[in-house]
Amino acid sequence: MLPRPDAKTIDRKRRMSLPHQPVPKQGAAARIGNFEEVYRPYDAEAAITEAMRCIQCPAAPCAKACPLHSDIPLALWQLENGLFEHSAIVFRRTNTMSEVCGRVCPQTAQCEGACIYVKKGKPPVAIGRLEAFVADYQAAQGSRDTVTAAPTGHRVAVVGAGPAGLTVAQLLAKRGHFVTVFDVWPSGGGIMRYGIPKFKMDHTIVDDLLNYTERLGVEFVYGIRIGVDISVDELFEQAYEAVFLGVGAGVPVDPKIPGSDLDGVYNATPFLIRCNVDDDFRPPGLRGTPDIGKKVAVIGGGDTAMDCARTAVRLGAERVVCVYRRTEAEMPGNERDRALAREEGVEFEWLTQPIRFTGDEEGHINEMGCVRMELREPDDSGRRRPVPVEGSEFTMTVDSVILALGYWPDPLMGESTPGLETRDWGLINVAAQTGETSRPGIFAGGDAVAGPDLVITAVAQGRRAAEAMHAFLIARH
Ligand SMILES: Cc1cc2nc3c(=O)[nH]c(=O)nc-3n(C[C@H](O)[C@H](O)[C@H](O)COP(=O)(O)OP(=O)(O)OC[C@H]3O[C@@H](n4cnc5c(N)ncnc54)[C@H](O)[C@@H]3O)c2cc1C
Repeated sequence: MLPRPDAKTIDRKRRMSLPHQPVPKQGAAARIGNFEEVYRPYDAEAAITEAMRCIQCPAAPCAKACPLHSDIPLALWQLENGLFEHSAIVFRRTNTMSEVCGRVCPQTAQCEGACIYVKKGKPPVAIGRLEAFVADYQAAQGSRDTVTAAPTGHRVAVVGAGPAGLTVAQLLAKRGHFVTVFDVWPSGGGIMRYGIPKFKMDHTIVDDLLNYTERLGVEFVYGIRIGVDISVDELFEQAYEAVFLGVGAGVPVDPKIPGSDLDGVYNATPFLIRCNVDDDFRPPGLRGTPDIGKKVAVIGGGDTAMDCARTAVRLGAERVVCVYRRTEAEMPGNERDRALAREEGVEFEWLTQPIRFTGDEEGHINEMGCVRMELREPDDSGRRRPVPVEGSEFTMTVDSVILALGYWPDPLMGESTPGLETRDWGLINVAAQTGETSRPGIFAGGDAVAGPDLVITAVAQGRRAAEAMHAFLIARH
């Protein structure tokens, strides 16, 4: 590992004159014909040149803007010196999922958005793709650290194999604890597999993450719904001493639009699963690619809506319109994904709200009634409140509609676990510094605590909880 460079030796002027290395990507015309990753990996030379643009700011605004506070300048210093493994190790000190976050974080709002180049009107250092580059290098070498401490004899149950649960499982296994991960789906990864499409992140990355976690000695039990098939209290009866709840927030928002039960109206998660998840990993009810026809409307404005719209384009739809009740300025999703969607031909109807779906005699949707909206004063979310414009109703002809209106937490954990405090329809209350819930020995993190958020924040909360769980376990004897 090279030590951090002396700030005085860094020639900032020369570095800032180096050309940005654009991240290679498939052109729009080619990529809409496949489900492969849009962005291609850097080659080693381009990655080194891009890393050399980092001027090693002593204040490291990029690291401050990263929810994991990864030591980005030090990692890029290793990278520019050709020490790819060391660079990966620096990222891994804070990030259990470098290969995922490098691909799917909204970097323009995080590390890259804080990069000094942005203030100068230049492209930021491509931190995300460089993190993915070194993580992929490490995966290809098979060199990721699998060292675990001597077995402690303590047993931990993790509920949910998403990024929060996998982070806890990996970190506690490394401390020598025996960990079992339970998940209701047929495989692990949570939304990384059962949500995020392959064109954003190839699912072999999820396979590799699971294989790595197994190599640490973690056991996986799939197809089991904790709180229904077996309760959290029964896990304690099975001699698990601590439980982590990383169950996400995956209950789709009910649009309450008449006609939502028509054929051709899809909910985002089952739609994405049927289009993006390999058959072997799908539950029996979600087999077969949907026949969406030519004219598709996607309702919603977040990451999920963009993923659905771009999936519909790849299924061969001729016109895909994203219908959103506010304007682009209020859209919550990743702006980079929105730009890619536009390049792929996705259209947008802003300030528009569907009010009814109607169908043909066979019960298949063929028309969507809409109303125009206008924005008034901000609501509780801080965004301007949309209200219908009187007399502005119109219809759109559609062959299918995909509902991507967001997600609620699942109240199941609170309902099935006596003494577990929840709020807001089921989000689990925790102590911010430890992730400990109102029940001693039960910890929680990720979307189940924060509501729908990001992979990186789930990793951050998993890390925090793993530390606290380790302290809890070793304090037992
Ligand atoms: C379509 C879509 C696209 C997204 N795109 C991005 C993106 O580009 N970038 C980004 O950073 N974030 C993105 N997100 C958000 C991100 O994926 C989530 O914030 C993150 O996965 C949350 O991690 P988690 O571990 O808390 O929960 P999840 O990933 O939701 O995992 C929870 C797991 O718990 C399991 N589970 C739930 N209840 C039970 C139970 N009772 N018993 C057993 N198992 C249970 C579930 O099956 C699931 O596997 C996206 C989300 C969606 C829906």
